[in-house]
Formats: sequence, C-alpha cells, structure tokens
Amino acid sequence: MLVSKDLQWIEEYIESASHLVPGISKLKRITSIHGRKDVQLGCYGQLWKYKNGHYRMSLYVNYYNFEKKTYLSTMDIVCTLAHELAHLSWWEHCTNHKKLEATITLIFMGKLKKHGYVSEEAERETIK
Ligand SMILES: [Zn+2]
Repeated sequence: MLVSKDLQWIEEYIESASHLVPGISKLKRITSIHGRKDVQLGCYGQLWKYKNGHYRMSLYVNYYNFEKKTYLSTMDIVCTLAHELAHLSWWEHCTNHKKLEATITLIFMGKLKKHGYVSEEAERETIK
C-alpha cells in the first residue's frame, strides 16, 4: 500500500484494524489532500473503487474555512479513516457499515490514548 508521506503515521492504525477489514489488501493507495480556498468541504475523506476491484483513499489534512487554513485534528483524521475503512466491507452507509466504523473507531481511540493523546482542544493548543 502506498501512503502519502504526511499520512504515514496512520499505517499503524490501519494495521491495528486490518483483521476487521478483509478487503484491506485491495486498498492500494492513500493520498493526502490539502484544502483549497475555492473548495468548500463537505467530508474529510473519499474512497474510489476501480473496475479491477482495487481502491484508493484520500484523506484531507487541512481545509479552508472562510480564507482561514484549518488543520484537521489527529482525531478527525483517524475517525475519517475508520469511516472509509468500513466502506471496504460495506459500500453503502448501512447499519453494518456504521457498526464496523464504530468498532474500528474504538480500536483507534484506544491507540490514540496509548500514545498520550488528550483531546482535540489540547492538540490545537500545540498547533497555535
Ligand atoms: Zn461514507
């Protein structure tokens, strides 16, 4: 799997949930997206499915909110990652998708905590 340089820290998160997502081997690439002033953001991630059965995922790392560059928190990014990973098993936003997303999110929150992550608010303090 190819992962953008600025997102390589998520690889250990993916690994920790890979047993829940059998389709993970079909995910070939994860790219980061940097926001643009002329793009209004509705979601933080996207998943593409190719005709050959492979997938590509994109995760936003920042976006513009009224001209102001805003960085997504680590928590935002892993939550989006959980959402998109769950789509590898359930393409639609069905109850099974949400349940799998929640299970993966629980694993990720445990990992964040283990890494000493306190909160988004605390993280924002370190960015400023
Ligand atoms: Zn979705």
